[in-house]
Amino acid sequence: MKHTKIVTTIGPASESKEALRSLAVAGMNVVRLNFSHGEHSWHRDVINRVREVSEELGQPIGILADLQGPRIRIGNEDEISVSEGQKIRVSDISHKEEFSSSDMPTVFLDVAGISDSLEAGHQILIEDGTIRLSVTDRVDGSISAVVEIAGLIKPRKGVNLPDSKLNLPILSEKDHKDLSFVLKEGVDFVGLSFVGSAADIESARETMRAELGADVRLPDIVSKIERKEAIRNIDEIIKATDAVMVARGDLGIEMPESEVTLLQKDIIRRSLMAVKPVIVATQMMKSMTESPIPTRAEVSDVTNAVVDHADAVMLSEESAMGKYPVETVSMMREIITKTEESPFDDVYCALDFNIRSESAVIIRSVYELAKSFKAKSILLFSLSGHTAKIASHFRPDTGILVATNNRRTYNQLALVWGAKPYLFEGDNNHATFVDKMVEKAKQDGSLSVGDQTVVFLGRVPGEYDNMRLVGIREIR
Ligand code: PGA
Ligand code: MN
Repeated sequence: MKHTKIVTTIGPASESKEALRSLAVAGMNVVRLNFSHGEHSWHRDVINRVREVSEELGQPIGILADLQGPRIRIGNEDEISVSEGQKIRVSDISHKEEFSSSDMPTVFLDVAGISDSLEAGHQILIEDGTIRLSVTDRVDGSISAVVEIAGLIKPRKGVNLPDSKLNLPILSEKDHKDLSFVLKEGVDFVGLSFVGSAADIESARETMRAELGADVRLPDIVSKIERKEAIRNIDEIIKATDAVMVARGDLGIEMPESEVTLLQKDIIRRSLMAVKPVIVATQMMKSMTESPIPTRAEVSDVTNAVVDHADAVMLSEESAMGKYPVETVSMMREIITKTEESPFDDVYCALDFNIRSESAVIIRSVYELAKSFKAKSILLFSLSGHTAKIASHFRPDTGILVATNNRRTYNQLALVWGAKPYLFEGDNNHATFVDKMVEKAKQDGSLSVGDQTVVFLGRVPGEYDNMRLVGIREIR
């Protein structure tokens, strides 16, 4: 059984039911829908197919709706060719009339008022930083910049302003529409792009709460760490979010490329300590978009993320529009499995963590028990998934089999390192979950007669309230 999970972006190369089924069989655990592309009807069809495949295979597949967020783009209608050292004006679409006819070539950003946040010395990075401008001065609302890296500035290309304090709401108008849609569809995770602070996360959570009402469980928020501002505020962001994505694409534009791997390691460590699932994303197997085999550097990249004990690794264009989506997932799975079997990922001491609850400390002893007795699996019962996440935090060599009656928990645990959830939907007889799970696990080969396990029953509501059972149990 592989412990590290695989998140797979779906697109034209993987949208069919057959493709989704093959991906799930090959090792995909979570589907990512990128809301920068696609109509709602397309997303709805994919969501329905994923739910069907999950049901048919009897395995959880989490659905992550990744919102576009406040992405800034070039607002010019025509291309502008700029050369190194050239002086150029920068503005935004609220000044389009004013500057369109002037002699000085002007780059327009497509967000009204965004040029107010540009100050002398700030960098303007266009099309993944392949074109770079630096603001020299601003006089009466007119901003001058000098071209540092030349190129052809094309309409609609993405812009990063790493040095500027962006006063943009975390959800754009488009995001609000997309969010409403995905909340109705009941997705398991919502990805927030370009998060800068804990306040961004709270604001998105309030929007979801207002939409769904007080009693409905919200999807988990995955905060994408891809801005310089987010690196500055990393601890408050990890504290406020439900899960984390190291979004290396934009992060490597806003921060020096040479630091991305170090930032990845640092963000993973902080997320582990806070017991928040963490995904490593972007370009992991990029060459497999075109080639049936990965580069050695890509193999190394996946191995490295597994050794760092990330919860999940992610595919983007490789699976959305590549030639070999299933082969890419299979290759990723093979690298993960071999790395987990090797001694190289064993150098991990159960990290200290900042949860000081009775059950967290008891789960630590569950982990110690499993280690001492070389147990095959830890058997848990988890309604919200929290107990399972704490067990996963210790990154045990054993399996973590989790019984739940909540479908959201079942799907969300698809992202959590090592967790293998079993669903008993509509069943409220909690006391019998673990026994039922053992039967299912014997059928699917996860457990065999004679295996040692460690059982932990968390807080069982109702009759068994506050009763906790821990112990070694041999499977019969
Ligand atoms: P994106 O996010 O693919 O939505 O831009 C991931 C990243 O920036 O790495
Ligand atoms: Mn991004």
